[in-house]
Amino acid sequence: MGSEQAVLAGWTSAQEQRDGPRDGAAFSEKEEGERGGKPRFEPIDREQLFWRMVDVERLVAEDHPARAIWEFVGELDLSGYTGEIRAVEGKAGRPAWHPQLMISLWAYAYSQGVGSARAIEQLCQCDPAYQWLTGTAVVNAHSLSDFRVEHDEALKGLFVQILALLSADGLITLERVMQDGTKIRASAASDSFRSQERIEQAIKQAREQVEAVDQMPQEESSRRVVKARERAQRERQERLGSALKEFEKLKTEGSVKEKKKTRVSTTDPEARVMKQPDGGFAPSYNVQVNTDAANAVIVAVGVVQAGNDFEQLRPGVDKVEQNLGETPAQVVADGGYVSRDNIVEMKSRGVEFIGPPCDEQGKGKSSYEGRGVSPEYYSSRFVYDAATNSFHCPNGKTLHYEGKEERNSQVSYKYRAAMADCQACPAKGQCCPGNQVTGRAIQRTEELPEVAEFRQKMQTEQAREIYRQRAQVAETPNLWIKAKFGLRQFNVRGLRKAGMEALWACLTYNICVWIRLRWRTEGAVATATA
Ligand code: SF4
Repeated sequence: MGSEQAVLAGWTSAQEQRDGPRDGAAFSEKEEGERGGKPRFEPIDREQLFWRMVDVERLVAEDHPARAIWEFVGELDLSGYTGEIRAVEGKAGRPAWHPQLMISLWAYAYSQGVGSARAIEQLCQCDPAYQWLTGTAVVNAHSLSDFRVEHDEALKGLFVQILALLSADGLITLERVMQDGTKIRASAASDSFRSQERIEQAIKQAREQVEAVDQMPQEESSRRVVKARERAQRERQERLGSALKEFEKLKTEGSVKEKKKTRVSTTDPEARVMKQPDGGFAPSYNVQVNTDAANAVIVAVGVVQAGNDFEQLRPGVDKVEQNLGETPAQVVADGGYVSRDNIVEMKSRGVEFIGPPCDEQGKGKSSYEGRGVSPEYYSSRFVYDAATNSFHCPNGKTLHYEGKEERNSQVSYKYRAAMADCQACPAKGQCCPGNQVTGRAIQRTEELPEVAEFRQKMQTEQAREIYRQRAQVAETPNLWIKAKFGLRQFNVRGLRKAGMEALWACLTYNICVWIRLRWRTEGAVATATA
């Protein structure tokens, strides 16, 4: 295109933007002849100014979910949020946003897949549902953002109140509770992980940069720019300081195996690299959700840094008890939760535990999956020979007695195959893929009565049928939270704030259950027929 044509095209485009498309621009003379003239279109006038009457109450329909959320939140005691409000009637100062509005805004936003305070601020300017909630006011992103992560106790109290309302409405029975964990990505990039040494160097550099900002001549930068730089440096130093503290925490937990290989994220130091459902690894948090099977209401939620679920069953049941003042009669969980300790613990608390049968070592299948062992080579497939005190593997090789181990007042007897047998075995890849210098080992533990009872129970069709229901109930809220609410990655950083965001999502999910099962069937119908 020549420069003259380009100028013309640019002018044409600008004119069209102002005046709308030119009449008949795209039609040939032949077409005009057939039609008897150029076609006419509705004009687009972008230069007009006009007043529009808006009936705010009618911005949304009677059965719109924004009304349901507003109504539901209005039933709650929000005194946990009002205690810290400084603005009082009759005195100067900017009034606070009402907690009913802020909670309704966040709950409605999550239910629509919006998790960003900035996006809500924009929606307050143009979306009828947000405008109805705010009465056409615009709540700024800063206030929304602070409200989401402040008031931990008030938010937990809100979650408990919602459970009390749903329970009073007959939506929670605690007869059967499913527990499941889901990994949600942290707000940290995979390449933000650094060694302790690198973080110490970065802290030193950050200090030098702060000193450089302090010594900068005043006239060189405006006061505002200097303040912004200082704030950015301070926040960076705080994050790096938190990352260093995280190394100490990992050492205390005993999670540091090789100091040089241990890495912590500099953007979200509390995030941990976890295995994802697609098989990859990413910085994440493990979100534990307990769901009441009667109506799929979430009765407890927790966020932890542990990548596995073995140790999360007891805290999950504890949370259900704290939230509802009652112990669930039955807990159903997948193989990741099945361990001897959990079986014994649930039995002692009077909670019936349903899960896939554990192997003879009292571990569920996940420990094998982690090591790449195929089900045909789980230790339950090895045959014990009491006469020779040895085991025979599925390929007929002998595992000889190696020694005994006493742990947690239990005695385990260890047996091992000859290295030469395993190295030459065609099934090595399915049986003990990680063993490079030893043969496959298994343990025989004198079985606890609780474990024997559990194993026997899980052979029955009744228990298996209950377990089959697990996936549908337990995974429904996880699916909603990730697919419908869009919470595949946290919008906030740090364990505490991630815990709060998970609570917001679960609280919203529960309100959605109420809308679906109660408001849509009772409230909206009553309003419509009034
Ligand atoms: S790898 Fe060793 S223990 Fe496993 S099946 Fe082969 S010979 Fe037996």
